[in-house]
Amino acid sequence: MSHRPAKGARVLAAGAVFAAALSLLHAGCGGDGGAPAAPPAPPPPQPLGWSGLPDGITVEVAETVTFTATLTAAVDATYNISADSEAVEISGEALRAGVFQASVTGVEAGEAEITVTASHTGYVTATDSLDVVVEDPFDPALWRELVFDAFDCPNGFTDERCRNIWGERNVEDRITAVLPFQPNFHVVSSYRQWRFTSSHTQTIGDAIRDSIEQITGETFTGQITSGRGIRNEYGWVDVVPVGSETLGGPSSCGGANVGRTEGLMVINVERLEPCDLFSVTMHEVGHALGFFHVLNLGDFIMSPRLTEIPAVFSETEQFHAQLAWELGRGVPYTPDPRKASASSLLTTDSAPGTRTLKDLPLDELVRCRLH
Ligand SMILES: [Zn+2]
Repeated sequence: MSHRPAKGARVLAAGAVFAAALSLLHAGCGGDGGAPAAPPAPPPPQPLGWSGLPDGITVEVAETVTFTATLTAAVDATYNISADSEAVEISGEALRAGVFQASVTGVEAGEAEITVTASHTGYVTATDSLDVVVEDPFDPALWRELVFDAFDCPNGFTDERCRNIWGERNVEDRITAVLPFQPNFHVVSSYRQWRFTSSHTQTIGDAIRDSIEQITGETFTGQITSGRGIRNEYGWVDVVPVGSETLGGPSSCGGANVGRTEGLMVINVERLEPCDLFSVTMHEVGHALGFFHVLNLGDFIMSPRLTEIPAVFSETEQFHAQLAWELGRGVPYTPDPRKASASSLLTTDSAPGTRTLKDLPLDELVRCRLH
């Protein structure tokens, strides 16, 4: 232990020599000859922030919204985007120096806060956040009613009429009846003693065009003809004037086959008051394209009661009808097709099983009553 102080003394001595040498060096460089200078301080970080981040976003489930956000300096920053909830899926990429593009996809109804950061050497890290609201326009009950006949035939085997239509099939065992194409329409000028006036024919044509666009989300590309005689042809829907007796009494405004490729719609011309021709036509076009009645929630064209209905499919009817139209004909029931696997959405023609297109209730004429 006795040698330790001596070693320490030697270190001190070496330090003194070093300090002296430094002092000389400073003197030679015109320095003040004092204590050694601190290493040069790095420049202070430059400011960096986001400009133009949206205040908030509303997105629907399965919908993707993109936005770009710009930095206050055009630097090739490293970006990070995160969300505090699983209601959304997010991704992003640098678009060009100082510009970041993000995508937000709705996963489930709810809210999320998204935080976006950008960092770059020599700059402060830019951080900002925005709120996202995820809305879900999908209504499982309406989907079952409009597309799978859960209103008129909630269970295929408890009601005789439904058993005749669907056999022993619950909603979960049914398939979509939507037409595989936009049909053409033939307005039959007269049937027995009943006839459409030229004004009626005009109104019917207008209602057909509006309906097709609202149901399919596509422009109507079919033909509308008028004349004597029923076509009963593949790809055509005949629109026929009838009277109350044809429909089994004065309570019906009209009727239609659901989703038949040789379609038929009938309109009770004896009841155009109080039945509204434009609305009734829209309603029957809905059936002809493959849709069923829905619980009357108010302003629904496919309500089973045809008074005081508006002359436009409700937004929610349009949403669900367009979803079914995109899926196509003969697709098995699924609780939410947006979340279903691709294989479960194959038509039953390509996935042989107990359900086939032959099971569609195409020969049933749905009677549409007046409330
Ligand atoms: Zn109806």
